[in-house]
Amino acid sequence: MKSFVHTSYIALLFLVLLTACSKKQAVVSRPAFAADSAYAYIERQMAFGPRVPNGAAHMQCAVWLIEQLRACGAEVELQKGFMPDYRGANQQIYNIIGHFYTPEMTNRPRILLGAHYDTRPWCDEEEDYNDRFYNVPGANDGASGVGVLLEVARQLGVKLADSTLTKPVDIIFFDCEDMGTPRVYTGEEREDTWCLGSQLWATNYERLSEKPVYSFGIVLDMVGAPDAYFPLEMYSTNYAQNYQQKIWKSAEQLGYGAMFASQQSYPITDDHYYINYIAGIPCVDIIHYDIRNATGFPNWWHTRNDDMSNISKSTLQAVGEVVMSQL
Ligand SMILES: [Zn+2]
Repeated sequence: MKSFVHTSYIALLFLVLLTACSKKQAVVSRPAFAADSAYAYIERQMAFGPRVPNGAAHMQCAVWLIEQLRACGAEVELQKGFMPDYRGANQQIYNIIGHFYTPEMTNRPRILLGAHYDTRPWCDEEEDYNDRFYNVPGANDGASGVGVLLEVARQLGVKLADSTLTKPVDIIFFDCEDMGTPRVYTGEEREDTWCLGSQLWATNYERLSEKPVYSFGIVLDMVGAPDAYFPLEMYSTNYAQNYQQKIWKSAEQLGYGAMFASQQSYPITDDHYYINYIAGIPCVDIIHYDIRNATGFPNWWHTRNDDMSNISKSTLQAVGEVVMSQL
């Protein structure tokens, strides 16, 4: 009896040690990312006013974005061009691209990170018809993805400075994502009126005789809400399932499994679609999709309520860490 107790005690001790070991193994290193900084970058964009294409705030924001990327050590490229808008008129496009690399990385496959910096000119989802002519403030729809990527850029700048950057990264701020045919428009609705900046970028890329190689891409859109919910978006699954699985697995390991749900959602036309479809680069969209609403999007989407009250630092932290974990 005594000896049995002794043996079981040792066995128990052994079990405790084993559990401790396996727990230690399960701890993942948390990538550096400061949500306070991402939040401040969103506030700064909001201070310009709605970043509606063809307006002064949009242009001031574009200049500021170029300055921010440069300050983080990126080589910045401004891609200009025209795309037909919903009326078929030429729309000027300014995509802003920050290249993060060291000379020895020139030929290594790059990672593409993207978000749109323009905001929608119309609050289509407002109930009152007259309210639909206001600009969307765009705290979530626009500024949040850009804010997270600016903080990623700052972290990449640190890596460049202390020589710990291992892979080249391109951060692209796409223009005119949200200029798709407004509900108030009574003319004929054309297809492909959304994501004009990424269509321009992908078309130019596809035509290059010597293309830089991208291993994969991630697009962020509406990534700041306190109740953010990111299911598996269908185009990402169709074109880039391996990368999508890997990103969602990292999210789970970091403790964000409830936010990055392993639930399939409908396909969403966002900048990632044209990066996949035209440029042929596997690209995953991290986008807030709300299964409780008929539109699939949150209640503040394309309304006057898309403001700072719907931005949460803990959500920004989660998304930032997940993105950083892939670099
Ligand atoms: Zn939008």
